[in-house]
Amino acid sequence: FPLVSVLNVPFINTTQAAFLTTIESHINNRENTFVVTANPEIVMYARNNPNYQQILNNADYITPDGIGILKGAAILGTPMAERITGYDTMLDLLKWGNDQHKSVYLIGAKPEVITDVKNVVTTRYPNLNIAGIHDGYFDDFAPIAQDISKTQPDMVFLAVGFPKQEQLIADYRHQNNGLWMGVGGSFDVLSG
Ligand code: UDP
Repeated sequence: FPLVSVLNVPFINTTQAAFLTTIESHINNRENTFVVTANPEIVMYARNNPNYQQILNNADYITPDGIGILKGAAILGTPMAERITGYDTMLDLLKWGNDQHKSVYLIGAKPEVITDVKNVVTTRYPNLNIAGIHDGYFDDFAPIAQDISKTQPDMVFLAVGFPKQEQLIADYRHQNNGLWMGVGGSFDVLSG
């Protein structure tokens, strides 16, 4: 995809539909893929945190999540096609994963929230295999990563907020050749 840089963060400039097609193909090919859906907060944070900026530089795709990014890009004279949010992308991939009998690993949010999310996903997407779930209040991610490595899910959604979710993905993505995406507060929304 063509890139549009907003304060040194290279965003992909494409449509949600085209982005999904590409991600689905990566998943089908079992390619290790790291997606960051970045809002203005993330861009500002990266400016002052070289380590986080480095993590963003190593992501495969950074999408504009948040209207502020699109407004910024337009002001800079490089308008972008459309907003691509973590929440919408996750929902689209859960639906596709259900149609394609894919597997998913869900990590994040409070214990009662992730339990609700599991119930919602099981009900709405009965053909999607839930490889595992974990709440977002763990001391050590290593045992969770080990389970991800064992179950080899097609998609891992990590909802522990930034910058932690991107840091964890950067550290552990090599353990599973699937999609890894940080989805912030999405589980709270999905649980209702
Ligand atoms: N969270 C978590 N573990 C933590 C801190 C936060 O699982 O150690 C969860 C929290 O319960 C919420 C989400 O991460 O569901 C953070 O949502 P927010 O909208 O703040 O995401 P951000 O915009 O910071 O990425």
